[in-house]
Amino acid sequence: MSVNAATVRQARAARIALDDTVDAATRALASAWASAWEEIVDEWSAAVDEAIGMSDGGWPARGPILRARRATRALQHTAEQLEELARQNNATITGDLRGLADLADEWDRKLIVTQLPDSSVSAVWERTNPKALSTIVKRTTQQVESLTRPLPAQQRAVMRSTLIRGVAIGQNPLDAADLMLERLHGSFLGGLHRAEVIARTEMLDAWRASGTQSRLTVGTDVLDAVMWSAQKSGKTCPACLAMDGTRFPIDTEGPNDHQCGRCSFIPVTKTWEELGFPGLKEPTATYVTGREWFDKQSGRTQERIMGAERLRRLRSGELDWDAMAVTRRSEAWRDSIGVRPLVA
Ligand SMILES: [Zn+2]
Repeated sequence: MSVNAATVRQARAARIALDDTVDAATRALASAWASAWEEIVDEWSAAVDEAIGMSDGGWPARGPILRARRATRALQHTAEQLEELARQNNATITGDLRGLADLADEWDRKLIVTQLPDSSVSAVWERTNPKALSTIVKRTTQQVESLTRPLPAQQRAVMRSTLIRGVAIGQNPLDAADLMLERLHGSFLGGLHRAEVIARTEMLDAWRASGTQSRLTVGTDVLDAVMWSAQKSGKTCPACLAMDGTRFPIDTEGPNDHQCGRCSFIPVTKTWEELGFPGLKEPTATYVTGREWFDKQSGRTQERIMGAERLRRLRSGELDWDAMAVTRRSEAWRDSIGVRPLVA
């Protein structure tokens, strides 16, 4: 019967399960970084006080500041904390990749079952080869390791340059000290931000790859396609709306939505007749595509999503839905779609 309300409900639940897992990991990262800062904040505070004490109206020069006793100690201790954080971050992100891969596999099958007349059908499907999922886990683990390895050195350099750059001491050394400590904290947290991006990107990729593996195992005997599904709201961008409801071959890995995108692929089964249930009356598919959904929104919501000029062009026929999204290629990341800029 293809995709229906139950499928959409389950797809949403799958996304929540994924988000819960990723959120738990990023919360653990944030808490590890907060504890690490607690460990070093007093040393940095002492280092800043020492630097201001050395001052002759301005922040000390590069040489003296790097030789200052407190600053040396703070930098060194920070480097140790960063090494430890990298180890912890790695363990947090890769700790339950296998659980995540299994979860993706499980959810994909649930989405397929919602489209079939009898859930007992699923009993005959082949299980996804655990080795294939292990390969995904291994690949992701290596990727996370190679991304987190350079973080301590990079972060150490950032802290050092923040220290050297200094702060205007001016009239009130206490204010200057507060400001400097704030900057050092900000520099330190840059590493957390990077770790969070790695967690989100890599965990999501493992999820996507596992879903593809699951669909390949179920195969084209059962599946007709995968369908791009966006979470449609007043905040969804025109590109995601344009892609919503479009179909691809089942071996497609994706969807290639943009960073922080919330799209997913829904497996779409063949018709009941094709599947060998000729006697049963198949309910019609009820999926509302992004374009159909958009047409039912108020003028205000439509304008908020599109912007005035894009909406005008869409209504006048100058702009077509098919031209709404454009694929961007990136060295640093996978291909991703975005909203095609308006050309005057
Ligand atoms: Zn979007």
